[in-house]
Amino acid sequence: MGKVLIIGAGGVGRVVAHKCAQIPDLFSDILLASRTLRRCEVIKGQIRKMCGRDIQIAQLDADNVAQTAALLRGFKPDVVINVALPYQDLPIMDACLQTGTDYLDTANYEPPDQARFEYKWQWAYHDRYRDAGIMALLGSGFDPGVTNVFCAYAQKELFDEIQYIDILDCNAGDHGHPFATNFNPEINIREITQRGRFWQDGRWHETDPLSESMTFEFPEVGPRKAYLLYHEELESLVKHIQGLCRIRFWMTFGDEYLTHLRVLQNVGMTRIEPIEYEGRPIVPIKFLKALLPDPAELGQNYTGRTSIGCLFDGIKSGKRRRVFIYNVCDHSEAYQEVRAQAVSYTTGVPAMVSAMMMLTGKWRGKGVFNLEQLDPIPFLDALAKHGLPWYVKEM
Ligand code: NDP
Repeated sequence: MGKVLIIGAGGVGRVVAHKCAQIPDLFSDILLASRTLRRCEVIKGQIRKMCGRDIQIAQLDADNVAQTAALLRGFKPDVVINVALPYQDLPIMDACLQTGTDYLDTANYEPPDQARFEYKWQWAYHDRYRDAGIMALLGSGFDPGVTNVFCAYAQKELFDEIQYIDILDCNAGDHGHPFATNFNPEINIREITQRGRFWQDGRWHETDPLSESMTFEFPEVGPRKAYLLYHEELESLVKHIQGLCRIRFWMTFGDEYLTHLRVLQNVGMTRIEPIEYEGRPIVPIKFLKALLPDPAELGQNYTGRTSIGCLFDGIKSGKRRRVFIYNVCDHSEAYQEVRAQAVSYTTGVPAMVSAMMMLTGKWRGKGVFNLEQLDPIPFLDALAKHGLPWYVKEM
C-alpha cells in the first residue's frame, strides 16, 4: 500500500493518474496536484467514471518550493511523480529533499531561457539525496525511460558487448490537425530545433538541426524516414553502458510537420527569448503554445500507432548480433483505456511502473539514478502487464 503525489495534470499526468487508480492495492491514496485545478477536476471525474474510485486533487504552483513542501508535509506521500514541465524539476526535487520524500520524473530539468537537455543540474543532487537516505529516479517516460531499460536489458541478457545503439522513435499516428505536437509544444519544439548530436569513438559529434536522416522499417508501421536528434538519454547511457562505439537517437517526422516547423522557425515563432510587444515582454514559443492544440486533448480522433525501440549491434558468444527491442502502442486503444493518445500513454505507463518499483522495494537506492542503473527485469515484466508489451526481434 502506498501514497502517491502526482504533480502535473497534462496529457501525461492524466495517464499516470488513471494507471495508478487502476491498481488500488498498491496505490491506495492518490493526490493529483497541478497549476490549474480545473484540469485536475476533469481527470478526477474521468477516473471516478472509469475506475469507480475517488482521487484527491489540489491546486499547486510547483515553482514554489515552500508550497510544494507544505503539500508534502500534509499528504505525506511515499513517492512524488513529477509530470509537470522540466522547469519544475529542481524546485520539486528541493521540496522532496526538505521532506525526505522519494522523487521521480520523465524529463530532465531545463533552465527556461536555454534549451540544454542536460542532466548535470539533477545529478548534482546525488550526494544530498544519498545523505538524506532518499531516492530520485530521472527520466522515466518512454524515451528517456523504457529505452534506457531496454539498454540495461540488452547489456544484461542479450550481449557480451554492445558496440552500437540506435534509438528509433516513430509516431505513425494521425490526429487530424495540420500541425500539433504530441507533448508540451514548448519542450517538444525546443528539443527538435536544437543542433543534432551523437556520440562516437569517445566524443560528441554535432550536426545541423534535422540535417541527417535514414529510412527504417518500423515494426507494425513500415518504412519511415527518421531524423537524427540529440536526446537526453544519450548522456546517461554513454556513462552507464560500457564499451559503446556509437549511440544515436532518431525520430520520424512527416513532411507537413517539418514544413510548418520551418515556417514557424523562419518567422521567429519558435524563439525562447522574450521580445517586446506593445510594451510587454512576450516569449514567442509560449505564445505559439497558446495557439496550438492541447496535446492532452488530441486523443479522441487519433488513429495509428507509435513504434519505438532500440537497435543494438554487438557481440554475443564471439558472434556478431543485431537485435531490435521495441513496443508498439495504438492511439485509439490508449484513448479508450485512459482518454489519452499514445505518446502520453507511453510516457505515463513507465512513470507509474517506476513508482511501483520504488514502492514495492524492487528498485531501491539512495541518491539520484537513471533507469539503466537498476534491474531491468521486474520493470519490464510490469511494463508488459500494465499496457506496454515489448518484443525482441533478431535482425
Ligand atoms: P502538458 O503541457 O500537457 O502538461 C503539463 C502540466 O504541468 C500541465 O497540467 C501544467 O499546468 C502543469 N504545470 C506547468 N507548470 C506548473 C507549475 N509551475 N506547477 C504545477 N503544475 C504545473 O505536458 P505533457 O503532459 O505532455 O508532458 C509532461 C512532462 O512529460 C513534460 O515534462 C514532458 O517533457 C514529459 N514527457 C516525457 C516523455 C518521455 O518519453 N520521457 C514524452 C512526453 C513528455 P497547466 O494545466 O496550468 O498548464
